[in-house]
Amino acid sequence: MTISSWLLNNMKNKILIANRGEIAVRIIRAAKELGIGTVSVYSSADKDALHVKLADEAICIGSERSKESYLNMNRVLSAAIATGCNSIHPGYGFLSENAAFVEMVESCQIKFIGPSAETIRQIGDKSTARKIAKDLGVPVVEGSDGIIDTAKEATKIAKKIGYPVMIKATLGGGGKGISIAYNSDELEQLFEKTQLEAMSSFGDKSLYIEKFIESPKHIEIQILADTFGNVVHLFERDCSVQRRNQKMIEEAPSPVLNSTLRKKIGQSAVKLAKAIKYEGAGTMEFLVDSKGDYYFIEMNTRIQVEHPVTEMITGVDLLKEQISIAYGKPISFKQQSLKILGHSIECRINAEDALNGFMPTPGKITNIIFPGGNGVRIDTHIYPGYVVPIYYDSMLAKLIVVAKTRKEAIKKMRVTLEGFMIEGIETNIEYQYMIMHEMEFIKGTYDTSFINRFNKRLEERKLE
Ligand code: ADP
Ligand code: ADP
Ligand code: MG
Repeated sequence: MTISSWLLNNMKNKILIANRGEIAVRIIRAAKELGIGTVSVYSSADKDALHVKLADEAICIGSERSKESYLNMNRVLSAAIATGCNSIHPGYGFLSENAAFVEMVESCQIKFIGPSAETIRQIGDKSTARKIAKDLGVPVVEGSDGIIDTAKEATKIAKKIGYPVMIKATLGGGGKGISIAYNSDELEQLFEKTQLEAMSSFGDKSLYIEKFIESPKHIEIQILADTFGNVVHLFERDCSVQRRNQKMIEEAPSPVLNSTLRKKIGQSAVKLAKAIKYEGAGTMEFLVDSKGDYYFIEMNTRIQVEHPVTEMITGVDLLKEQISIAYGKPISFKQQSLKILGHSIECRINAEDALNGFMPTPGKITNIIFPGGNGVRIDTHIYPGYVVPIYYDSMLAKLIVVAKTRKEAIKKMRVTLEGFMIEGIETNIEYQYMIMHEMEFIKGTYDTSFINRFNKRLEERKLE
């Protein structure tokens, strides 16, 4: 009997949520709608967190530091066993793309909600993923074939492909473990530094290099794949508004993709997913240059932060689909039935000082006024009196709007940001509001270097 069919026959389905923050809350709600039990784990810093209050059961698994709690594989797994969970949802970040953890979970006959350890080991390793894509004829950015061990080797390849080049950690994520080198001196200087950063952030120092694409669009394709071999894509998201290679605003559909390119990239993503026999929800990330050429950069083998914009334009609940797939059910719809029903934008509301190097600003939230109305969605874990801990991600909430057209969506986002008040700590709400009025954003032509330009413009305005 496979794990999935065993789960289907087991009436007492129960998920352990191995995460915190808004995504833990999102998973709990989806599980409850599906009639599945929920168990939260939490660190001592999160004893008053919303995911602890909302789950059927909650277990403290350690102290504040992630290593002692959310990243502690033995403790997370023990909590699942102790509470009789038959599946673990990893959310994003933390253990969500950790093949060793997935192996441990699988060996305990608990279903990991996501692909197999083997798949993660393959495609979660960015350098290996490049090779798989290349072999399938999916375009990748010019770069190294595999891992590069020394700065000398790196300069050799850079000379061939031309500067600037990006040095990237093969297990990297969240924009960390990435550097740009404009010449061989810089490459030599940065190589070891990036190796060290990769080692400390991801426990692995392996690097690869890629040609730096000037001012590209970050376009990604959401896919779902079930255990019956069905694979669908749910169109693209444009995530080109980024700070330090990490996304800040996402929208769907992309304002610059035409239907031909949309179809081509979508097909590439499905081809990749089928080739690796993918299972669950996943995202293929691409860069699109000014000529409209696209290049695969990596796959995220998990649910992503910005999944709601796809939900808002397709009407599909990605979390419920993801969980159902893990419990052995087929995808509930067919590719042909999917249509783009409107335009959606998401702003990540962070506890950070956008004009001061995006420095985190944790602390106590004294009061909140949440916006609302037609086409407005907020995914969050914060409430008045909540203390934002210093130990984790600075994201407080995701503000998502949907409207018939992009223009209407931008207007709605402006009004909604205006009515969103968080008191007690500094947030980026006002900064997001300013972006919604910036011509480059309004036109939709912005690319991944937009934030750098925007901050320079703000500096200049300050001087005037
Ligand atoms: P997404 O990829 O879902 O659009 P982010 O890149 O912002 O979103 O990542 C979401 C969270 O997961 C962040 O807290 C980020 O630091 C973390 N994260 C992403 N990838 C990894 C990884 N490979 N290892 C550890 N943490 C990661
Ligand atoms: P992560 O795993 O941290 O998400 P990615 O490989 O997805 O790393 O890259 C994150 C971001 O860095 C991209 O969205 C893009 O803005 C930038 N980036 C990555 N590779 C390149 C490249 N070869 N050229 C230009 N920008 C890149
Ligand atoms: Mg990425």
